[in-house]
Amino acid sequence: ASFAQIERVEKDVNSFVTLDKEAALKSAAEVQKKIDAGELTGPLAGVPVAIKDNMCTEGMLTTCSSKILSNFHPTFSSEAVLNLQREGAVIIGKTNMDEFAMGSTTETSYYGPTKNPWNLNHVPGGSSGGSCSAVAAGEAFYALGSDTGGSIRQPSSFCGVVGIKPTYGTVSRYGLVAYGSSLDQIGPVAKDVTDCATILEAIASYDRKDSTSIKREDTNFTEALKADVKGMKIGIPRDYFGEGLDPQVKEAVLKAAQELKAQGAEVEEFDLSLVEYAIPAYYVIAAAEASSNLERFDGVKYGYRSQDYDGLHNMYKKTRSEGFGAEVKRRIMLGSFVLSSGYYDAYYLKALRVKALIKQAFDRAFEKYDVILGPAAPTTAPKLGESLADPIKMYLGDIYTIAVNLTGLPGISVPCGMDDKGLPIGVQLIGNRFEEKKIIQTAFTYE
Ligand code: GLN
Repeated sequence: ASFAQIERVEKDVNSFVTLDKEAALKSAAEVQKKIDAGELTGPLAGVPVAIKDNMCTEGMLTTCSSKILSNFHPTFSSEAVLNLQREGAVIIGKTNMDEFAMGSTTETSYYGPTKNPWNLNHVPGGSSGGSCSAVAAGEAFYALGSDTGGSIRQPSSFCGVVGIKPTYGTVSRYGLVAYGSSLDQIGPVAKDVTDCATILEAIASYDRKDSTSIKREDTNFTEALKADVKGMKIGIPRDYFGEGLDPQVKEAVLKAAQELKAQGAEVEEFDLSLVEYAIPAYYVIAAAEASSNLERFDGVKYGYRSQDYDGLHNMYKKTRSEGFGAEVKRRIMLGSFVLSSGYYDAYYLKALRVKALIKQAFDRAFEKYDVILGPAAPTTAPKLGESLADPIKMYLGDIYTIAVNLTGLPGISVPCGMDDKGLPIGVQLIGNRFEEKKIIQTAFTYE
């Protein structure tokens, strides 16, 4: 069924970098045998899944939508993918993304942009745009995405699907190609909250191969699928409804809050503070970590190597010049600059201090509230091409999602309406660390 739908729509939406029908059918047949033998009984057994192309899949091309990895076949699979396969998931392919997950529109991909299934003239969001469009277009029943600054929640909001960014440390980052290691988390993208909770339960695990992995006893997320918000305290940050927020998004998100109130939640506005500092702090920290993480792409160990060079240094230079796209180069330059001697204190250390203050602001908020509710993004999906022309404007679009990564908190985006162009709007629910269950329960009740 998935491949029949892919046949119909993939040429228009371009959700995938790699599709492997033969491998998928083979794996489905093997899973079927295990189901018949009673060895696989879980809800994900035999269900087709699409994986973002920054997660290693053994033997299957893993490009990060970059030319520099355009020939990379990993010898191992990421832990999150293995966790799904243990449950009998069937991988149908790898989804398109912004190059190395840097971007908000899936337009920085070496493989061309993905289109929003609701309107092909608009972007699907990013960087997990291919994962979200694959689910929205019915090509995959669910997908994995990664979220460093909003890359699961924002495209989920733009594509009208549900996406969760878990508490940092919940899902192993082993085998996820690193962008900003202190911020990156893998999470599910699916059609509804029930599917998302089920998938998250499957991929969450303690993993010694990821030094930031956390041992949790409470990853039975499906237990939170209860339609009940009576007494749930929901805080709405006033600072999330100011300048730059599209009035239609504002209206739909506040309406969602009203509906939760009608169902028994206590809803109240409050001042979160420091919201305007999240973007500068994030773009300093994320770029710094990216510049370091991307040092490994030198044309020696794996991936693309320039064909025409003169000596070792020239080989590095040409390989990286030819292999990386413009947005990735911008981040490497910015990151190298903020980490350089003389600027380290002024930019990188200062950003870390701002991050600590933002965390304190959220800690204070969670003393009073169970859940924080706001928009996932300030607008609905922009037209193709608009964001590439103005990267700073694109960065500003991350305002509601990135603080959640800086603080390691869990967040979920759930569809809450449409604008007058027929493009989906998402409401974001943010929880305290390890309190995915509260946001899942609230989202499930709302949905
Ligand atoms: N848009 C943000 C960035 O470009 C977030 C991307 C992400 O979460 N991977 O860095």
